[in-house]
Amino acid sequence: MADTQVLEVRNPRTGKADHTIAVASREEVAAKAARLRANQPVWEAMGVGARCGVMARWLGAVKARAMDIGEADAVDTGGCHTSYIQGFITMGNIGGWLEDAPKAFTDLEWQGMSTSMPTVEIESQVVAYPITGVISPWNAPLMLALLDAIPALFAGSAVLLKPSEVTPRVIETLFETVREVPELAAVFDYVTGPGDVGQAVIAEADTICFTGSVLTGRKVAVACAERLIPCNLELGGKDPCIVTATADLDRAATAVLRGAVYATGQVCYSVERVYVHESVHDAFVEKLVALAKEVRLNADNPRAGHIGPFTFAPQAAIVMRHLEDARAKGATVLTGGEIEDIGGGLYLRPTVLTGVTHEMEIMQDETFGPCIPVMAYSDTEEAIRLANDTHFGLTASVIAGDAEEAKAIGKRINAGGIFLQDTFLTFAKLRTFGSDSFGWSGYGAPRIGPESLRRFLRRKSLLTQTGKVADIQDDHHLGKPGA
Ligand code: NAD
Repeated sequence: MADTQVLEVRNPRTGKADHTIAVASREEVAAKAARLRANQPVWEAMGVGARCGVMARWLGAVKARAMDIGEADAVDTGGCHTSYIQGFITMGNIGGWLEDAPKAFTDLEWQGMSTSMPTVEIESQVVAYPITGVISPWNAPLMLALLDAIPALFAGSAVLLKPSEVTPRVIETLFETVREVPELAAVFDYVTGPGDVGQAVIAEADTICFTGSVLTGRKVAVACAERLIPCNLELGGKDPCIVTATADLDRAATAVLRGAVYATGQVCYSVERVYVHESVHDAFVEKLVALAKEVRLNADNPRAGHIGPFTFAPQAAIVMRHLEDARAKGATVLTGGEIEDIGGGLYLRPTVLTGVTHEMEIMQDETFGPCIPVMAYSDTEEAIRLANDTHFGLTASVIAGDAEEAKAIGKRINAGGIFLQDTFLTFAKLRTFGSDSFGWSGYGAPRIGPESLRRFLRRKSLLTQTGKVADIQDDHHLGKPGA
């Protein structure tokens, strides 16, 4: 047997490789998939009620280890206050589905007579995709590994996860809790390694949920198309925020700063472009810069401060490329703007830019760092045109004098989630409806709300002829026209 290949993992706070992961071979991925495939029918057959019982026990195991999970997430990502609550967020995710999954299934059952062939009884049945493959990114590495995996498991699917090779520690801790619940461990497993291992998962799975970059998302979509299996893609964003002339500027500056620099801007729905009415542009920028200067790095203490280092070192280089391009094309950097190496961690303070145009990368491509490019607009039509001048369409925000004014603008922006009078309201949608991604931000069913569970199910119809069978010349089997 060939030696196992090993990959070194960098610590974002020290810059040193202090962890390793094994790179799963094709054979190992296939063996894990075969085990899951063999166990999945029992998981599905036990029904949603019994699955909820198993998941409730897992919730207990996660609760007991919530602090350890948070610590591992903090080491993976570089540590910021969001990391330490990841165990509790996972508990909320499981707990939410414990309430919602049974209802989502009840609504799906249907039995009745055909409307076009009155003697035919139809029973509609749902069956789970046997194996859901989940491929997840390094930002919010636990939440984004589980956002799809948990509803898939509730739906009766087995899940094979390929987490990011950049942030594997938190997944290792999580699976210690999975192994405490044998029925769950039978249908939930993971494999480690880089992109090739993701391709191996695609080769084994029956449906794929991918979260990551546009570049990789395309490769995943092509691989799924070749196998003719469905895929859900959650990709990047270049999310705009419009601040109107009537907006409360203190409110707008506070919301924009948080939306742009939270978790060092390494959030798919970060505010990445700000359009401010020209009459209040200078006053808004002054307030934003003042707030930005108050933001503290967490270099001394991962539990303190507002923003941590870049989780993935190459991301710092991408952000610098965007800043250099903007400067070269005439933008002015008012705060931040330089990467600081502190003890091996790469940090960037909130970076406010003015004088930006849509010719600059920073207004077109995903930056994924704590940068806030601000551009003036002269009328509402221009603001909407600029907000929609993008390949992406994940979320957008509008902050206006009142909610009605904000809504009128928000309704005309092409994105899945439009936040009014604030930023970062993504998770307010939990348990109600999800939303779609527009453009390059992805495709597939929403990943929040009942539709996100149903995407792991296929519908079957059992059609029973309760009347006479037709003879060969009887065309009534085609249904009555207009029926
Ligand atoms: P990435 O695309 O580099 O990697 C994502 C995952 O895909 C990793 O597990 C990686 O190993 C795997 N992978 C790489 N090449 C592959 C291949 N050829 N086939 C199969 N799998 C492959 O993304 P990243 O840098 O880890 O994450 C950051 C990106 O994720 C950003 O663009 C961000 O916007 C996006 N993101 C989107 C959402 C969303 O919900 N829309 C959420 C978070 C992050």
